[in-house]
Amino acid sequence: MASKTGFREIRTVVPIDTNDTGEIAMNTRPSPRNHHNDHAFATEYVSVGNTTMPVARPLPKRLLGIWAHPDDEAYLSAGLMARVVATGGSVTVVTATRGEKGTDDPSSYDSDEFGAARERELRASLAELGVHDVRFLGLRDGECDFADGREVVRDIVEIVADVEPDTIVTFGPDGMTNHDDHKAVSRWATEAWRRTAVTNLYYASVTNDFLSRFHDIHEKIGVYGEFPTGRPPAVCRRDVAMEVSLDSHELATKRRALGRHASQTTGLAEMMGEELYTNWWGAEVFRRPTWAETQECPTPTWMQPAERAEELAAA
Ligand SMILES: [Zn+2]
Repeated sequence: MASKTGFREIRTVVPIDTNDTGEIAMNTRPSPRNHHNDHAFATEYVSVGNTTMPVARPLPKRLLGIWAHPDDEAYLSAGLMARVVATGGSVTVVTATRGEKGTDDPSSYDSDEFGAARERELRASLAELGVHDVRFLGLRDGECDFADGREVVRDIVEIVADVEPDTIVTFGPDGMTNHDDHKAVSRWATEAWRRTAVTNLYYASVTNDFLSRFHDIHEKIGVYGEFPTGRPPAVCRRDVAMEVSLDSHELATKRRALGRHASQTTGLAEMMGEELYTNWWGAEVFRRPTWAETQECPTPTWMQPAERAEELAAA
C-alpha cells in the first residue's frame, strides 16, 4: 500500500505527534502489532490536550449499513463489513435503489433489467465479504428526493426492529458526494435511528489527509464536483469515531468486492490504474453525528407541513 499512516491497528493507547490542525504526522510508527488480533478491532481517536491518540475500539456486533445505490456500501464500508463478519458479527445492508441510472448506455439506462443486473452485482460483491443479508427499499435511482419520507422511515424502522443492530452506518448529511439520493438516505436513516434504540449512528466521512493525498485524482474524475467548494466536509483525526484501515489482505478482499460491481468499477479502475484504485478507499472513516444532527428537525424537508401537522396530532 502506497501511503499507510502506520498506526492503523494499535490496540493500546500510544501518543502520536499531531500538527497544528490535529492531523497525525505521517511518519509515526506504531508499536509492533499482532497481525491476528488487529482484525478484531477498529480504531477510534481521542484527544488529550494537543495530542490525538488512536485507541482500539470494539467492532460492531450487529451492523446495519443503509446506503442509496449498489457499490456505495463497498466503497465506504467493505473493510468494516469483512471485519465484523470475521469476528463473528452479523451484517445487514439496506440499499434504497438498484442503481438503475448508473450507465451511459441509453438502451439499459433506467431499465428494470439493468437494475436487476446491479442487484446481482451487489449480492456477488457482498458474498465476497461473507454478507448475505441485503434488503431493498424499492426506490428508483435518482428519485429518492421525491419519495414519501414517512413511508421510507417506517420501512427502515421495521428493518431495524428485525435486525436489532448495535450500530448503523450511513451517509452524513453531505451525502459524501452531495448526491441527492445519498442525502435523502442520510436523513431517513438518521430519523429511523432517532425513533429506535440503536446505540450507535455513524456517518461515513473523509479526513483531510485523504482529500490531500488523492486530490489530483479527485479533480480528474470529478467525484466531488457537485460540492460548490469542489470538496466534501472533512473531519480531523480527533473527530474520527471509527476507522478501519485495511491491510494488504483486506485491501485485496475489498478490491474483489468492488470488482463485482463491474458495471460501475471496471472502467474507473482502468482509468485510475490498479494500484491507485486499490489503495484509494484503503481507510474507512466514520464520525458521530453532531449534537445538532441528532435533534429532530421540526419540519423535515421530506415531509410536507400538512403531513407533519397530522403526524404531530397523531402522536
Ligand atoms: Zn451512490
